[in-house]
Amino acid sequence: MSLDAFVRCTCIRDGKAKPHPFPEKFMWDEAGAPSLSGDPSEEEWEAHDRWVQESCEHEGYLVSEFLGNITRAQHLRDFLRGLQGEPGPKFPILLKKVIYDGTHTGDWIPVKESPALLREVDLVLGSSDILTEGEKEFFLSMKRLCDASIATGNPIVF
Ligand SMILES: [Zn+2]
Repeated sequence: MSLDAFVRCTCIRDGKAKPHPFPEKFMWDEAGAPSLSGDPSEEEWEAHDRWVQESCEHEGYLVSEFLGNITRAQHLRDFLRGLQGEPGPKFPILLKKVIYDGTHTGDWIPVKESPALLREVDLVLGSSDILTEGEKEFFLSMKRLCDASIATGNPIVF
């Protein structure tokens, strides 16, 4: 079980991608992913997926990060809970939407929450002298995802 996350590039939206095989069926889904409308056949989905992969030099993804496995997530949750205080630092988005107790299946963080998430991440990285290498790696990955989300206007997808 592993935790990955990515942010899509904007090439398709910016019209930089090559023409879609059936543009009349092309649509954006609610997570900001290129998708197909109607009742596409298996062949149409395959052609669409191939098109997404070949659509630009990024293969559709600006940033893609491996965030760790379930053990690491558990460790990070304990670490963040220990860091929280009253009054004091709080990490609601990290704890409720990134490293919660459970698995991500096609979750995403809406782009309007990315700046708040970045503030949580920066707060943790501000105490980098107490972070282990693994913890630092995780939060730097999160920072790259937040930066990409804010720059593109696309959500962080897990
Ligand atoms: Zn691209």
